[in-house]
Amino acid sequence: DGEVNFKEEAKFSQHLTKGEAVSDFAKSKTLAQQRQYLPIFSVRDELLQVIRENQVLVVVGETGSGKTTQLTQYLHEDGYTTNGVVGCTQPRRVAAMSVAKRVSEEMETELGDKVGYAIRFEDVTGPSTVIKYMTDGVLLRETLKDSDLDKYRVIVMDEAHERSLSTDVLFGILKKVVARRRDFKLIVTSATLNADKFSNFFGSVPIFHIPGRTFHVDKLFSKTPCEDYVEAAVKQAMTIHITSGPGDILIFMTGQDEIEATCYALAERMEQLISSAKQAVSKLLILPIYSQLPADLQAKIFQNAEDGARKCIVATNIAETSLTVDGIFYVIDSGYCKMKVYNPRMGMDALQVFPVSQAAAEQRAGRAGRTGPGTCYRLYTQSAYDNELLPSPVPEIQRTNLGNVVLLLKSLKIDNLLDFDFMDPPPQENILNSMYQLWVLGALNNVGNLTDLGWKMVEFPLDPPLAKMLLIGEQLGCINEVLTIVSMLSVPSVFFRPKDRAEESDAAREKFFVPESDHLTLLNVYQQWKSNQYRGDWCNDHFLHVKGLRKAREVRSQLLDILKTLKIPLTSCGFDWDVVRKAICSAYFHNSARLKGVGEYVNCRNGMPCHLHPSSALYGLGYTPDYVVYHELILTTKEYMQCATAVEPQWLAELGPMFFSVKDSDTSMLEHKKKQKEEKTAMEEEMESLRMVQAEEERR
Ligand code: ADP
Ligand code: MG
Repeated sequence: DGEVNFKEEAKFSQHLTKGEAVSDFAKSKTLAQQRQYLPIFSVRDELLQVIRENQVLVVVGETGSGKTTQLTQYLHEDGYTTNGVVGCTQPRRVAAMSVAKRVSEEMETELGDKVGYAIRFEDVTGPSTVIKYMTDGVLLRETLKDSDLDKYRVIVMDEAHERSLSTDVLFGILKKVVARRRDFKLIVTSATLNADKFSNFFGSVPIFHIPGRTFHVDKLFSKTPCEDYVEAAVKQAMTIHITSGPGDILIFMTGQDEIEATCYALAERMEQLISSAKQAVSKLLILPIYSQLPADLQAKIFQNAEDGARKCIVATNIAETSLTVDGIFYVIDSGYCKMKVYNPRMGMDALQVFPVSQAAAEQRAGRAGRTGPGTCYRLYTQSAYDNELLPSPVPEIQRTNLGNVVLLLKSLKIDNLLDFDFMDPPPQENILNSMYQLWVLGALNNVGNLTDLGWKMVEFPLDPPLAKMLLIGEQLGCINEVLTIVSMLSVPSVFFRPKDRAEESDAAREKFFVPESDHLTLLNVYQQWKSNQYRGDWCNDHFLHVKGLRKAREVRSQLLDILKTLKIPLTSCGFDWDVVRKAICSAYFHNSARLKGVGEYVNCRNGMPCHLHPSSALYGLGYTPDYVVYHELILTTKEYMQCATAVEPQWLAELGPMFFSVKDSDTSMLEHKKKQKEEKTAMEEEMESLRMVQAEEERR
C-alpha cells in the first residue's frame, strides 16, 4: 500500500536513567549533542533518502521525536535551501515562534537571519532566511500573492493531525502546487498514527514512521465526576509535590482564565505549606503557558529549574503536541479544552469549553512518558472516557464559520466551493451560511462572486467584518479612527487588572470610558497613549499593558501599509465620533441587539439573549441604550457581548432593508430561501418596531 516500513528499533542508547532530572541532561550536553539524542536522528539518512525519492511524504512520529525542530534542518543540510526556502507551518503562533527560536539557537544564528518565523502581523524573517516557520494562516495568505509558492522548495505541513482550518484548506491548494511544480516537495507530519487519510488524499504516498521511544504511563481516573477541575488539579499537584518522587508536572486547562486561577491557587497553597511546615519544603516553579502570554514568559517553560526545585507547567492544549517540554513525569488532565464552534442557533462562532477527544486524552497522557515511566491523573471517570468522549476531534473546517476561507478561495478564483478538493468537506450548510454572511456584508454579489468591496477586503489579514469596518471608514471619512479601533481589537485586552488591585485598576479604566461605546473607549486609550508620546511608564500608571498597546501600534502601521498599497488615503473625522459609531454599526449590524431589561439584550435577528459585560463603558451612560452592536459574544456564565457600542435605531433601519432583502437572490442561495424568509419576517417586525420608535421620537 505504498507504506515504507522503517519501524526498525532506534539505534541510540537510552541516555537517561529513571528519575534523573532531564534538566541535568540539558545542562550537561551541548545543543549539537542534544540533537543527536532525538529519535529522528537515528533514521536521518533513511528519511532523507525517502524524501529524495518522493515528491510527497507523510511522516509520523511521537511528539518530541524531533519532527518540528530537526526535519527542516536536515533538509537544509541536504542542500534543499540552495535554491529556495524550506517552510514549515504550525497551527499555533506560540509554536511557530518558540520552535524558530530553538532552531536558530541550534544553528547558531540570530533569529530572523537564517532561521525566522512569520505569524499574523509579525514577520521575523530576512533576505537570508532559508528556514521559515509560520502559522498555516500566513502560508495560506501567501498563496494569494503567489499561487505556486515559487520561493519555497519544500513545505513541511506540521501538526497535520490538528486539522486546523487553514491546514485543511492548504491541503487542497498544495495538492495543486505539487501537480504543477515538479521541483516542489511536500512533507506532511503527524503525531498520531492515523496518517492513512493524509497519504490517501495525496494519492497513496509513502508513510515514514519515526521509531518511538516512550515509556509506560499509568492512567488513573477519578472515581467520581469532579465538580471543579481547577480545584481538583491544584489538590492533585500539591499531593504529587509533597509525596511523589522527582519529575515535573504538566497540568492541562482550557484557557487563560483557568490557567491564571490555577497558578494563583498553587502559589497560595505553597505559601501556606511553607509557613506551616516544620522542615524545608522543596520549591515549586509555577509556569503558565497559553497563546496570549508574552513571548518572554512563554520561553520560561523551557528553562531549567534550579536544583531541587520542581516545575509545574499549567498549559492549554498547546502542550498536547505543539510544544514539548522535557522532564515531565506527571500529567494532570482536566479532560476539557476550548474550541471554536459554529453555533447555528446564534448564527456565529463561539469559543466554548468541550470535553477532549479520546485521542487528545491519550496524547496528553503520553507527555508523562517521554523520559521515563510516568503517571497521568485524569480528573474524569473511566466511564466518562469510554462513553462520553469522541474517539477523535472534529476537524475545525467542519465546525466553524468559513467566512475568511470563502473570501480567500473566491479570490483564488475557485468559483464553486462545493467542488473544492477538501479532505473532509465542510457541511454544505456551513459554506452556504458563510457565503450568505459575506453577501450580507457586501463582499459577494448575487451570483456569489467577489464585489469590489470584497476584493479589497481580501487584502486585509482580518476577519471580514473588521476589514469591512476599515473600508466603511474610508467612505465615511474616519479611516484614521477606525484603523486604531481595528488594531486595538486585533490584540489582547490592554487593560491590566491584577487581582490584588482590582478596584484601583477598575477606577483607572473608568477614566478612559467613552460612555456610548467600548470601541470608542479603546480609541480614547490609544489616542491618549499617543499624546503621551507612547510612553511605557504612562501605561503603568494607568493600568494598561504597554506590550499590548505597542502591538496595536505595530498592527496599525501594517494595516496602514496595506491601505497605502490600495491607494486609500488616511482621513480623519477629528472628534466627531458619532461618525465612527456609524462605521462600526455598518460592519457589525449582524451583531445588533435590542434592550430587554437592565443590561439585558436580545439579538435583533434571532432573539438570542445577550448581556452587557459588567466592565462595559456603556454602564457609564447612566441608562442603557435601546440598541447596540457588539464585536463578539463570549459564553461564560452568561452570553456576554464583548465590546459594545450604542447605535441609533435609524442606522439599523437604513442598513436593515439591504440586510434582509432576499428577493433577487441567486439560485446558489436557494437553499437559504426558506431560512431567509423567516429571517425577513422577523426583521420586518423588527423594522416595524424601529419605525415606531422613530415615530415616537419625532412626536417628542
Ligand atoms: P516533535 O515535533 O516531534 O514533537 P520537536 O522537534 O518539537 O519534536 O522537539 C524535539 C526536542 O526539542 C524536544 O525534546 C523538545 O523538548 C526540544 N525543544 C523544542 N523546542 C524547544 C525550545 N524552545 N527550548 C528548548 N527545547 C526545545
Ligand atoms: Mg512538533
